[in-house]
Amino acid sequence: MSLLVSIHDVTPALADGIMRLWARCAARGLTPALLVVPEWHGEWPLEAHPAFVAWLRARAADGAEIVLHGERHDEAGLPRRLSDQLRAWGRTAREGEFLTLDGAAAGERIARGRGRLRALGLEPVGFVPPAWLAREDGHGAAGRAGLGFSEDEHAIRLFPSGRRVASPVVRWSARTPIRAWGSLAVARARWTLQRRAPLPRIALHPGDLGHPATAAALGPTLDRWLARHAPISYAALQG
Ligand SMILES: [Zn+2]
Repeated sequence: MSLLVSIHDVTPALADGIMRLWARCAARGLTPALLVVPEWHGEWPLEAHPAFVAWLRARAADGAEIVLHGERHDEAGLPRRLSDQLRAWGRTAREGEFLTLDGAAAGERIARGRGRLRALGLEPVGFVPPAWLAREDGHGAAGRAGLGFSEDEHAIRLFPSGRRVASPVVRWSARTPIRAWGSLAVARARWTLQRRAPLPRIALHPGDLGHPATAAALGPTLDRWLARHAPISYAALQG
């Protein structure tokens, strides 16, 4: 059984948390995928933070897979329709950049984001929409752009085949204390119910460190899953 470990929201805006999450993974011999946002909230262009980019290139040289995680991550300038509201209900505080985008608009942002990463010497292998929210056509845009995969909360879509691999996600939310405690319960339930899943994902977010309970849960949760599952890369899924 295999385990995909990733760090979401990789941006210089959250550099401190990202380094701490990386250290917790490294202490366990893990090399997580790094889900990079080229311009977090429209205010943190990677190009203006060369030291952070150098750190990313070094981690890629260590074997970390670089994954495009939106262009700016938030929904600024993108009005939700009622159907979008319903899909995002309770899921994200307007951090679903791809929630409302059709295939063409998603493709434009993916192409721009990938181009920016490449210009910095970072080669993304796949795409994860912020908050895992995208329309089916938006996921497909990643494949049409030549990226190897896209994913939602339930499955990973491998491209170019389009084959879906079921994969439950273990993640936390420390946005509010209630969410922090609730997400701890959900993460524990995932272990109880899905520890025999062949391919779970553990998604670490810098925000998880914002509440002591979730911060304390990350390491023991990684250890628990690693006792049963061997770490795997996205590239290995293509085989
Ligand atoms: Zn994110």
